[in-house]
Amino acid sequence: MLQSAQAVEMTACFGRPLTLRAMRQTLDQIRSTYREGQLVPDEAELLRLAQELLTTWTAPTLLPVINATGVILHTNLGRAPLSQAALRAVAEIALGYSNLEYDLEKGKRGSRLVHAEALLQRLTGAQAALVVNNNAAAVMLVLSALARRRSVVIARSQLVEIGGGFRVPDVMKQSGARLLEVGTTNRVHVRDYEEALQEKPALFMRAHRSNFQLVGFTSEPELSEIVAVAHRAGIPVVDDLGSGTFLDTSRFGLAHEPMVQESLAAGVDLVCFSGDKLLGGPQAGIVIGRADLVQRLRKHPLARAIRADKLCLSALTATLLHYLKDEAEQEIPVWRMLSMPAGDVRRRAETWLARLGEGRVTSSESTIGGGSLPGETLPTWVLALDVRNPNKILERLRREKPAIVARAQDNSVLLDPRTVLPEQDELLLDSLQRVLKSSWAIGRGL
Ligand SMILES: *Cc1c(COP(=O)(O)O)cnc(C)c1O
Repeated sequence: MLQSAQAVEMTACFGRPLTLRAMRQTLDQIRSTYREGQLVPDEAELLRLAQELLTTWTAPTLLPVINATGVILHTNLGRAPLSQAALRAVAEIALGYSNLEYDLEKGKRGSRLVHAEALLQRLTGAQAALVVNNNAAAVMLVLSALARRRSVVIARSQLVEIGGGFRVPDVMKQSGARLLEVGTTNRVHVRDYEEALQEKPALFMRAHRSNFQLVGFTSEPELSEIVAVAHRAGIPVVDDLGSGTFLDTSRFGLAHEPMVQESLAAGVDLVCFSGDKLLGGPQAGIVIGRADLVQRLRKHPLARAIRADKLCLSALTATLLHYLKDEAEQEIPVWRMLSMPAGDVRRRAETWLARLGEGRVTSSESTIGGGSLPGETLPTWVLALDVRNPNKILERLRREKPAIVARAQDNSVLLDPRTVLPEQDELLLDSLQRVLKSSWAIGRGL
């Protein structure tokens, strides 16, 4: 069988060992069905079955997806898409050698930490910066390095759980820090923080309520007030911003997401935030702040285990450069989507409608997602397809290549142009046409 023309082609494509394995598995299967009295398929059929196995075994599982949900930072869909410049930077560094840990001037070993640090310092004015694998790791590192076997003061209203089971109290426990809760679920006062000083805590922590809102009879001191209490006792304050942003979201008709610069201005000693939320870069955890504290983080053994790799650092520095050059809104996809005026989204939805000749354009709402601006929405326009069974259509769209993820509302499938990259329009429309034609033939919406 291996000598047949088709198998030679398969060997060239998949390699001999894997092709051989596919043939053997196919033949084993045929033998067992033959024993049960069934007919033996011919050679062409055997080769087809082997080819099928090879295709399944080698198909990638991580696939590109068209995001038509309107959720800009969709954690399940990989959060922030990278900018063109970030992509070029990754490709250049990934394909060859680099000075990742090599000082080109001195001709000897350097540090991988320098690459993003200078940019982060220039952007924020912080004394020092450290980049690790993700923000959860950054928080873990801060607590392990600065508060192991000691207490960390945090308000009860901030003991949050973000997606994927990251719970602030659990992370604290894991790091070896003792949780010192102050205040109540809805209200915490300056005096609560002052009373906590009796326990001689190592650290004050604030965690941003990334994914829910606290409304009603609530109160919380300003960050600068918390800082004042801590600093009077010589205790550092760490602010886990979660998303964190360099740009003011209120400029785009949204609520104000806490900014990295504001935390520093309030006097916080360390600020932690994600690379792939509103920053719009690769997965990373960024810690900025006081040089002596950052130095303690660097020296902790955990820092080595959660360090950022060269691909992350190259994409991150390219992304940070967009902020430094004041071109984030134009170059970083997340900000392009966020700042896209509703009128522009509407025009795109209308273009889709004209091409498809199906559905209607209607107003709707995009959400930000990714642990930022909970409860906030952006006015948007969507293409709505009224069908009998929206879930069936959604399932069909997910089976397209690339898969399309949209959402259903009542008896409609909604497609939001805001999160569809412009270069994906053609692919999306081709898929939609195909799916609608097939569901038309078998009764609208199945
Ligand atoms: C998202 C988030 C994290 C975790 O960040 P990752 O980069 O996903 O690890 C931690 N804390 C808060 C408050 C968050 O919103």
